[in-house]
Amino acid sequence: MSIYDELGIPRLINGNATLTRLGGSRLAPGVAAAMEEAGRDFVDIPALQAAIGTEIARLTGNEACYVASGAAAALTLITAVCVTRGRAELREKLPFTDDLPNEVIVHRHTRVGYDFGIRMAGVRLVEIGGPNGTTADELRRALNPRTAAMFYFPRGTTERGELPLETAVEICRPLGVPVIVDAAAQLPPRSNLWSFTRRGADIAIFSGGKGLRGPQSTGLILGRRELIEACAPHAAPNPFICRGMKVGKEELCGILTAVRWYLAQDEAAESAFFERAVAEVVAGLQGIAGVAPCRDFPNEAGQPVPRALIQLDPTTMGRSRDELLAALRAGAPSIDLAAGSESSFYVNPQTLEPEEVSTIVRRIREELIV
Ligand SMILES: *Cc1c(COP(=O)(O)O)cnc(C)c1O
Repeated sequence: MSIYDELGIPRLINGNATLTRLGGSRLAPGVAAAMEEAGRDFVDIPALQAAIGTEIARLTGNEACYVASGAAAALTLITAVCVTRGRAELREKLPFTDDLPNEVIVHRHTRVGYDFGIRMAGVRLVEIGGPNGTTADELRRALNPRTAAMFYFPRGTTERGELPLETAVEICRPLGVPVIVDAAAQLPPRSNLWSFTRRGADIAIFSGGKGLRGPQSTGLILGRRELIEACAPHAAPNPFICRGMKVGKEELCGILTAVRWYLAQDEAAESAFFERAVAEVVAGLQGIAGVAPCRDFPNEAGQPVPRALIQLDPTTMGRSRDELLAALRAGAPSIDLAAGSESSFYVNPQTLEPEEVSTIVRRIREELIV
């Protein structure tokens, strides 16, 4: 009997996304074994952190790496670094930052809920730009001696009205203001592990528990050595702002194993699976009155991953999209899918196994063909 069965917690088919509320992702092969092995012995944790960081930096073509307890924790940690700028005596002041550089620049139209992780370190967000674009002058006007950092929240590899990353770097670097990319959900493509930092970002952040399929409570901070070396003193086992966002030896060994696994995957084969899965859903839902399935691209995070988009005509169907999604969630097996705009919903192959794709098609057909 599995532990989930014993607890009476139904397992879900996640055709939605790498969502924390559903468990993020499945652990990659070998990760659980590495965690189990790591849990058997005592080691010096700062030394292990440093060794794992060195290895992940090497694997991802970055100067340095620090493993945080998730991408959200990484936001807090790197912000703490930018506010205190390596001055040890300032660590214990956080999150009170009145006399410190405590402004962080973001593009207004790219704000995400996760920026609470940045604000937690005691900073204030300064918004620039609008949906139709941001000018270099708006960034120049926002910069001042109180600026701690500038953050990007990309959706895909090209900017959507934000100042190009390269331009922001050109303006910020001479002033010593780090440019940081929160790329938590930007894997695949795997090249993002190095492309944001090659394009000049001082730091790029990734979730360990999304595309990498490592432990849920891990996140990578990749980039400039000087900033990364300043991370550890703010975090466990030290008693400062990120003490509560601890990463254990099990998670450290788990995320290293996941990064190695991820980099060894055949990205083209993975894309081909995504396409087959989407084609199976689209073909399987063809010819039902009031149901219009098609391939949609890219996904909600701008990643090069296709999804099946299913448009419903509620008058023909006699039930709403939300009623259908609720029925799938309440059914056996329970299936979680993302709502789209109006009467549409998505099937996302990124978190699915082949047989789950067939199950989803069957369950949708059962619900729709009365
Ligand atoms: C998922 C996500 C996060 C949080 O990642 P965790 O690893 O769950 O902490 C932060 N920022 C963005 C843009 C995300 O998509």
